[in-house]
Amino acid sequence: MIFTKALEYEDIRKNIDKDNDVITIIGCETCVRVAGSGGQERMKELAMKLMSDGYNVKDGFMVPTACTPKIFLAKMGRDVNTILSLACEAGSANLERSYPEYKVVSTIKDVGLMVADTDKNVLKVTMPYKGSDNETGREFKAFVGERNENDNTLPIMEMAEVTGVAK
Ligand code: SF4
Repeated sequence: MIFTKALEYEDIRKNIDKDNDVITIIGCETCVRVAGSGGQERMKELAMKLMSDGYNVKDGFMVPTACTPKIFLAKMGRDVNTILSLACEAGSANLERSYPEYKVVSTIKDVGLMVADTDKNVLKVTMPYKGSDNETGREFKAFVGERNENDNTLPIMEMAEVTGVAK
């Protein structure tokens, strides 16, 4: 699974236009939900905040995995011209490919590969992407994304053996 972080609200806002963009939000139900950067609650929060700031958000819906090419059977509202992607960068790229006539705006950035133990409610970054090397071995609360107080709940090797992910 991919560990991700939500972009700052101001960084999302600067990519959308209050006067011209008619927005739907598409959220992925998988990695970003587990990482706490996406999911239905975050979709609602983002939609409410944007609407209260005067943006034209029409609706939003969740898909099981935004990176699956055939998933996009959803019919957009007639006036919608902009998709806010509540998915990782692969999901956003897939949205761009699947809906080339729409403007697609990312709301989440990738950090790297993670392992997750939902019994312990912990995620651990095991293989960070370029630029996120300082995240190696860091732990976060599952479904929330807050930093754990210590990074020793999930030894990387132990989880790597379980999941088959190389250290
Ligand atoms: S779109 Fe990204 S977050 Fe969603 S399932 Fe695919 S890899 Fe995970």
